[in-house]
Amino acid sequence: MILQESHKIKTLVLVGGGHAHIHILNKYNKKRYQNIKIILISSDTYQYYSGMASGYLEGIYQQDDFRFNLKAICNERGIVFIEDSVVKIDYENQVLHTKGNQKIEYDFLSLNTGSIVKVKKKELGPNVFSVKPLSNLKKIKNAIESLVKLDKSIVIMGGGAAGIEIALALSMYQQNDSNIHLTLIDRHNTLLNGSPKRVQEIVTSRMKEVGIETYLGGFVTDINENYVYLENGQKIAFDVLVLASGVAQTSLYKDSNFIVDDSSSMLVNDNLQSLSADNVFGAGDCIQIRNNNLVKKNGVYAIRQAPILWKNILKVIKGKSLKRFKAQKTYLQIISLGQKKGILIYGKLVISGYFAWKIKDLIDTSYMKKNKK
Ligand SMILES: Cc1cc2nc3c(=O)[nH]c(=O)nc-3n(C[C@H](O)[C@H](O)[C@H](O)COP(=O)(O)OP(=O)(O)OC[C@H]3O[C@@H](n4cnc5c(N)ncnc54)[C@H](O)[C@@H]3O)c2cc1C
Repeated sequence: MILQESHKIKTLVLVGGGHAHIHILNKYNKKRYQNIKIILISSDTYQYYSGMASGYLEGIYQQDDFRFNLKAICNERGIVFIEDSVVKIDYENQVLHTKGNQKIEYDFLSLNTGSIVKVKKKELGPNVFSVKPLSNLKKIKNAIESLVKLDKSIVIMGGGAAGIEIALALSMYQQNDSNIHLTLIDRHNTLLNGSPKRVQEIVTSRMKEVGIETYLGGFVTDINENYVYLENGQKIAFDVLVLASGVAQTSLYKDSNFIVDDSSSMLVNDNLQSLSADNVFGAGDCIQIRNNNLVKKNGVYAIRQAPILWKNILKVIKGKSLKRFKAQKTYLQIISLGQKKGILIYGKLVISGYFAWKIKDLIDTSYMKKNKK
């Protein structure tokens, strides 16, 4: 393939409406980029912003506050929108195959398909919900609100940032209905494994304060419709189970014969370019940068990669040399602790309380406002 500047219209296909692609949708101007036709393929019309997910569960935000209507944005920008899931990428012939049996050809491809929750069993009951895709949050809300029995037991599996935010958001239901019992299970011996001790202590004390029971070091061996079974023989009953048990990848990239890492994420170089094909790029949770352990699978890095991704796609189309993505070690993390409280972590700085939540609220709401324009 010749990556030279040409006046022929090039087709750029974006797969997934993740953070990096939201940036591209907003930067694309049909008049300015007359030689590029963009197609966005996404499995959902809406793209949800995880930063505000727990606030939605708590009732602080409404559904439309934390989601983008991809179809509407594409229509406005002159971008073709296809609601479908890509199931196979034939990068040698530059063709995508979708669940809806479409074959879509491309000149350049960008992948921003995010991640899924690590789940052992595929067939789970109707009262078991994974936090991803984030459209499931409405189902979680509905399931909890529709429980007619008085003593409701909700179990959250996963004591990382996502599980903690969800558990603390759901503690709102404890206040309104004292018969709700919340339990969080994690296989590690501490909450937020790998975080500074002070952060773990603050989060642990907040969980106690709102009355969430925790099972730490609780390795889950099985789940059925009513119980979670732990390795130590204990079983925990639930009416609703929420899975926030870590980040995993679908088999899309592995099955499409891309060079992938151990977790099946597509391996890219520092320019966010696939190691398998020069005209394929990627960003966010679905990629792993070769020899780079600094980049974490979170929205912050997906957002940071976005401008480099767009620049490099434009550069490769023009046959120019690409720009490196330089990962910073320190990044601002704010975890919501429920009821407008949060914990802010930046290097050694740790602040908790309303102020931390307010900063998060300002960052998140301005992100949505900026990208909805
Ligand atoms: C409850 C919760 C709270 C979180 N809070 C934060 C936070 O506060 N800050 C933070 O930095 N991170 C947070 N995270 C992590 C964050 O959500 C992810 O790291 C981030 O969304 C990854 O972004 P992305 O751009 O890679 O993809 P995503 O935002 O996951 O988007 C990928 C999109 O691609 C689409 N897609 C997937 N596969 C296909 C396919 N085959 N074909 C077509 N379309 C496809 C999906 O429908 C999805 O819309 C949170 C996660 C959870 C679960």
